[in-house]
Amino acid sequence: MAFRMRYLSTRGKTTKITGAEAIVRGLSDDGGLFVPESFPLLGMDKISELSEKTYAQRAAYVTSLFLDDFTVSQLEDFSAKAYCESGFPNIEIAPVRKIDKRTHILELWHGPTCAFKDMALQIMPHMLTASLRKTGEKREVCILVATSGDTGKAALEGYCDVPGTKIMVFYPRDGVSKVQELQMTSQRGDNVNVVSVEGNFDDAQTGVKEIFSDGDFRTELDSLGSFLSSANSINWGRLVPQVAYYVSAYCDLLKHGEVNPGEKVNFCVPTGNFGNILSAYYAEKMGLPVNKLICASNRNDVLTQFISTGVYDRNRPFYTTVSPSMDILISSNLERLLFESSGKDGSAVKAFMSALSSEGRYSIPDSMSGELSRVFASGHCSEEDTKKTIGHTFDKYNYLIDTHTAVAYKVLDDYRAKSGDDTTAVVVSTASPYKFCEAVLEALDVQIEGHGAMLIDSLFDKTGFAVPAPLSKLKDQVPRFYESVAVSGMKAAVRRFVGGK
Ligand SMILES: *Cc1c(COP(=O)(O)O)cnc(C)c1O
Repeated sequence: MAFRMRYLSTRGKTTKITGAEAIVRGLSDDGGLFVPESFPLLGMDKISELSEKTYAQRAAYVTSLFLDDFTVSQLEDFSAKAYCESGFPNIEIAPVRKIDKRTHILELWHGPTCAFKDMALQIMPHMLTASLRKTGEKREVCILVATSGDTGKAALEGYCDVPGTKIMVFYPRDGVSKVQELQMTSQRGDNVNVVSVEGNFDDAQTGVKEIFSDGDFRTELDSLGSFLSSANSINWGRLVPQVAYYVSAYCDLLKHGEVNPGEKVNFCVPTGNFGNILSAYYAEKMGLPVNKLICASNRNDVLTQFISTGVYDRNRPFYTTVSPSMDILISSNLERLLFESSGKDGSAVKAFMSALSSEGRYSIPDSMSGELSRVFASGHCSEEDTKKTIGHTFDKYNYLIDTHTAVAYKVLDDYRAKSGDDTTAVVVSTASPYKFCEAVLEALDVQIEGHGAMLIDSLFDKTGFAVPAPLSKLKDQVPRFYESVAVSGMKAAVRRFVGGK
């Protein structure tokens, strides 16, 4: 074995743990996030070799470099279970489509919930359950999720009927779309539960956080043979599978002669919590030929401001946009980038994070901006431009994109115009346009009639663009879950689900 991968905390705690432990623990005791001590290298020969392999094989190889406490054959097994026809009915897992001579789109929405979170959440449950066995855990794990939409459904699909697990999702009763609600409440599986909470997303999230930090409740669950874990995007198990699709996209470009071996490409990523683009950064650190990673924001441009100025300031209005998965003012995974760009200085990161929580802002020194500007560029896109871009790409290329992808598409256009950098670029497409029918129909100037799943038919009639199987079946689904609780009733709901009185 070449070397053993170890993980550290971004806030300076130096205890080094394995990949399996990082996945089981989620968060370090000092409040930091787990990061690899060093990055495994991926040479051009290996990338060429992977370009002849399937997506599942590519993913197994890339994840094995980070999770070397698993055997490659174990990871091949997880990967084959995750990236197979039952979850990805279209068979193509993460295809790259050519739009014009230098522009490609990486479609990450062929999974069961039609958004990119499936790419990690289809494989993570296998990694987590195996990690639990490895660390000697005998109790049943109960995954708790508070969701504003996409993550809840993706986690339900990932954990559905996985032995040794239960999953419970709380969503704000008036805070998700009808399509999202039906996607969740019609979830199949014997180990799942979905409950709406009276209040908004923050109320649901606060309720879940309180349950996690309640020591007495933990003891009670322990006596029932159960314990709680989370599926949110700061877990290492969510990030490592995402590195694989950047490698895979490059492999596809290579295989189809779109780049020469070693030729650099740009990726433009619609960003919210900074998880997706961070995985691209990790791929770059492993040696994937990347020129620039372009961070795209909607009107909530706190991240792109940070990348261009070095000042992170969340004291600003929060806007609700047509790309809701990017409506975020605190991007938790940015902490991992701060760690790398400070030269792995845990105490510096700790100081930034405490300034963020006390003052809502921090600014990084010039010594850190070098690494940022080496790799990153950024831009943001208005609501109006988001819609225009959907209309324009449909008219010009007969290709339909969702609102999040449109933000990235426009930001790439702007970046090219401003920088003159016309490196071959890949726009990362994070959701099927059929998940955001209303905004997409508006962008195409179609009169909206009806709501929810009915709009899927209107959008298909207008565009002829194939409807992903999981969404075309949605209108025939019936809800299985109707329970609604106040925030104060969330703990009791978990207790009932886990099996206590
Ligand atoms: C979650 C999500 C994003 C944002 O991804 P991050 O990893 O949080 O930056 C973008 N688009 C869609 C459709 C999403 O579901």
